[in-house]
Amino acid sequence: MRCIEVSLPVPLFRTFTYSVPEGVAWPIAPGSRVLVPFRNRADIGICLGEAEPPEGVILKPIKAVVDSVPSLPEALLHTARWISDWYAAPLGLTLRSMLPTPLTQANTPAPAGKTQRVVRIVTELPSLLQREQTFARAKQQRAVFELLEAQGGVAPLEALRVQANCSAGVFTAMAKRGLVEVRDEVMQRDPFAERAGVAPPPNPSAAQRDVIDAILRGEPGQVFLLHGITGSGKTLVYIEVLREVLRTPGRSAIVLVPEIALTSQTVDRFRGAFGDAVAVLHSGLSDGERLDAWQSLRRGERRIAVGARSALFAPLEGVGVVIVDEEHESSYKQSETPRYHAREAAIVRARAEGALVVLGSATPSLESWERADRGQAIRLSLPDRAGGAQLPPVQVVDMRVVTKEAVAARNPHAPFDPMLSVFSPTLLAAIESRLHRAEQSLLLLNRRGFAAYVQCHACGDVQVCPHCSISLTYHRVPEALVCHYCQYQHDMPSVCPKCASDKLQRRGLGTQQVEKLVAERFPEARIARMDVDTTSGKWAHTQILDRVGRGEVDILLGTQMIAKGLDFPNVTLVGVIDADTGLNLPDFRASERTFQLLSQVAGRAGRGPKGGDVVVQTRMPHAHAVQHALTHDFLGFVREELGARRHPAYPPFVHIANVIVSGVHQRATAAAATEAAEWVTQLMKRQGLRDLVLVGPAPCPIDRIKDRWRWHFLLKSSQPKLMTRVARYVAERCPVPKDSELRLVVDRDPVSL
Ligand code: ADP
Ligand code: ZN
Ligand code: ZN
Repeated sequence: MRCIEVSLPVPLFRTFTYSVPEGVAWPIAPGSRVLVPFRNRADIGICLGEAEPPEGVILKPIKAVVDSVPSLPEALLHTARWISDWYAAPLGLTLRSMLPTPLTQANTPAPAGKTQRVVRIVTELPSLLQREQTFARAKQQRAVFELLEAQGGVAPLEALRVQANCSAGVFTAMAKRGLVEVRDEVMQRDPFAERAGVAPPPNPSAAQRDVIDAILRGEPGQVFLLHGITGSGKTLVYIEVLREVLRTPGRSAIVLVPEIALTSQTVDRFRGAFGDAVAVLHSGLSDGERLDAWQSLRRGERRIAVGARSALFAPLEGVGVVIVDEEHESSYKQSETPRYHAREAAIVRARAEGALVVLGSATPSLESWERADRGQAIRLSLPDRAGGAQLPPVQVVDMRVVTKEAVAARNPHAPFDPMLSVFSPTLLAAIESRLHRAEQSLLLLNRRGFAAYVQCHACGDVQVCPHCSISLTYHRVPEALVCHYCQYQHDMPSVCPKCASDKLQRRGLGTQQVEKLVAERFPEARIARMDVDTTSGKWAHTQILDRVGRGEVDILLGTQMIAKGLDFPNVTLVGVIDADTGLNLPDFRASERTFQLLSQVAGRAGRGPKGGDVVVQTRMPHAHAVQHALTHDFLGFVREELGARRHPAYPPFVHIANVIVSGVHQRATAAAATEAAEWVTQLMKRQGLRDLVLVGPAPCPIDRIKDRWRWHFLLKSSQPKLMTRVARYVAERCPVPKDSELRLVVDRDPVSL
């Protein structure tokens, strides 16, 4: 009897065996989709290969082989197996996440484009002044306008009407005034297909040439870590390497970027260099478009896949090079099962393909840096900016001093001016001078995460855990400061333990508040805000960035989104409003993230001939992340930070897995987490697992998400194989009460806790 092993998209760590009836072409290539009976219905599975017929069991026969050419090439199957093992993710779910949705469904309706009545902004109103003059008392029009902006300037009429809770007459009135237009449009267009590519610079510099040659001399599977400072011209290096590799017929390439919408400039350059050979895979594609792109790659019509995380699964064969741009970005980690890190999986795939790997960044991750220290990657560097530009000088403003001076100078009877606690006179003057000279400013409000921490307004001291180098998180009910690593708890102090000041503050500041302050201060400035609230529309990011590129924005204010890869020569000022917010998150990567963010955002300034300046406001000017960013000193930062990660051990010196238990009821969740941790502790005892440490359990730093309470504990081990075994064992066997809504997930190599 002929049998095959089939993987099905179910949350189980097992595969299934089916028989293959006569008349079906044999053998069936691994990676082919097969239609099989499963739980009283037909489902799509992936053939993993021939199987031994089990004894005494009657197998069900497959219904059909769906693919004539396997949907998943060999190297991808290999990558899926690795992801499934390493991240303790069921293989079937991993394989499913590699395929476009329509290919994973037993009966696929053909997705089609259709027309729809849409409302589109035709007149932008970037400054507060313009807005107030235009709308005056027309509140509803203003609300509609701002809703549209938040969706990237265009939205389906009917949806907008419901959102704004207005009559269609409002749109007609706005159209009459020339603010918007209303018309029928085909939705589901691929905006990237319409974007013009941008020609890359014609010739690499000598430094770029050296790096390109070194990469091209690499053995198959060699990993390179390209440490090139911001503006050093890494994109041109990637392009030249691709050009050379693709000279060999049958070769293809994969380029990973952190987020397509935020890196449209980079993508435009790849399209400028390679035109239609590039398939841009992005989240804005409809199912049909995604399938088209996937099929053109599978057939070899397009040879370069550019995209975020999942472009790693492009069904190309003969991949000769995989590029991971901004390799330090945490968005490369998938936050749902399978919780893979695209950089690590890219290396695995590249090895299977015999492809070169280029990991590029101005601020490489400590993981990659250490990989090079271990001899598993070759480090290359571009220490200077391309075209002779200089890194901008960074000025640090100590906000403790600013506050003190403001308080001293203030009229005790006047209300306190909130501007003074947000903007230093230095930063305001810098913005003003840019406005006078018609240059552009970027203002960063670093607001990663939402965990509140407590800082003394007078001396800047932050409440940290005495056992871990991590700030304590403020909890409201019951009021306490909690360490999310070791569960240490402390009452909320009433005065600063260091200077006895009673000005202890919970920190946190919103982009909206800041935008309002800037708009009031500079009413004529054209301001754009970029954060999750203004970029809910799929193309909103790109549209905002295009406006900046066209010079239609004077001040771009945003969260860390604005720090990524932007290359605008007229940006001559970067202001960081509060460097401390990220520093005090309860995460061992807090310093690394802050350093990366400050370096990256600083790197947006001074790319053109006019040069540039960076102003960083902080209450912790001596933090080493700030100090090293100030001098653009990556090596100094790495040395200090690696030192700090040894004791207590954190990645890259130890492997960690975060085990998260979530549930609707707080007490049941806590109990289940405690029980799970106890179960693991017993397992460790029974098996004598000495190189495994369990830390916790404790509430997660964000202890409730979408109405679910979250508890977690950490597993640490210096042995990757042991971690693989334990992670899988926990994911598969760890008891959470059956038939309950409690969930347990294992997040190996977590990027946030
Ligand atoms: P990075 O990604 O390293 O920060 P980019 O690839 O964005 O840098 O390049 C920065 C700028 O330098 C871009 O505007 C690019 O066009 C320009 N550039 C790159 N290489 C050269 C070169 N060899 N000659 C002139 N300009 C260059
Ligand atoms: Zn602690
Ligand atoms: Zn104090």
